[in-house]
Amino acid sequence: MAFIVSVRSLTRVFDVSKPWLNRVIERLPKRKLTAVSDVSFEIEENTVYALVGESGSGKSTIGKMVVGLLPPSEGEVEIEGVNLATETDADKIDTVRSDIQMIFQDPYASLNPRWKVGNIIEEPAVANGDATDGLAERLLEQVGLSASDVNKFPHEFSGGQRQRICVARALASEPNLIVCDEPTSALDVSVQAQVLNLMSDLKDEFGLTYLFISHDLTVIQHMADKIGVLYLGRLVEEASPDALFDSPKHPYTQMLLEAAPRMDGFGREVEPPEGEIPDPINPPTGCAFHPRCPIAVECCAKERPVLETKGAGRRVACFLAE
Ligand code: SF4
Repeated sequence: MAFIVSVRSLTRVFDVSKPWLNRVIERLPKRKLTAVSDVSFEIEENTVYALVGESGSGKSTIGKMVVGLLPPSEGEVEIEGVNLATETDADKIDTVRSDIQMIFQDPYASLNPRWKVGNIIEEPAVANGDATDGLAERLLEQVGLSASDVNKFPHEFSGGQRQRICVARALASEPNLIVCDEPTSALDVSVQAQVLNLMSDLKDEFGLTYLFISHDLTVIQHMADKIGVLYLGRLVEEASPDALFDSPKHPYTQMLLEAAPRMDGFGREVEPPEGEIPDPINPPTGCAFHPRCPIAVECCAKERPVLETKGAGRRVACFLAE
């Protein structure tokens, strides 16, 4: 199967220094924040790749680099075989750009409140110079809303309905790849399930590929084909949902799963993840997880474990993973 996305050694460093004058007066050094470090993964066509991690793990930064909203500091992203940062053929760049769409977390903030829903949905097609006759009506029905909603404004809809409008807008330019950044985390649990089911159905119907970003493992358990677990900007484990949920190998994945609510866990005491994600400006030495790791050994504070293949379709970065 072909890969639609190839991410290789992706790194993003932000300069978070105070302004030059303050640094001179206060004799402060430059401060660098490494949000993403040496991340590599691939996404097969018509599959869902989920990136999971606590806030500050770098997942949204990766999403922005994949869609081209943020340039990488190092490494590269190839979409449909084209590296948008280095490609010089303008036609190729336009084609790839029109094949990518993004759905954001907040359906309230991502829709222009002064535009009618029909205009919002048609906008990506208009930008591509595509025909829009009946497009908004058709897409609204495809996402479970009514064709007559084209003349309404975003404030007339609930949160779940607004996210459906965002999905319709994302589909307007007939994309191949949709990057979804926490698309359901602002919604009630029952509405979350409806939107996830809708996205799953649309994936099959339109042959879509999703890069799905979430802080919640259970949200993507039934939808993802592969899950990448991020900790402090690095991939620490990657596996299929079945392998990850049945036998998580990395202690951080185990911690996340312990903290996740379970259908069969009624009355079970849920342990929140212990400790806090460290300061990315001064990350711990060696394995960045060692200050929180319940099984850390001496070498964990000195050396960084490499992300290695451990069995079919699984990669883990831990000295003690079997
Ligand atoms: Fe824990 Fe060491 Fe494995 Fe890191 S390398 S997860 S500190 S056991």
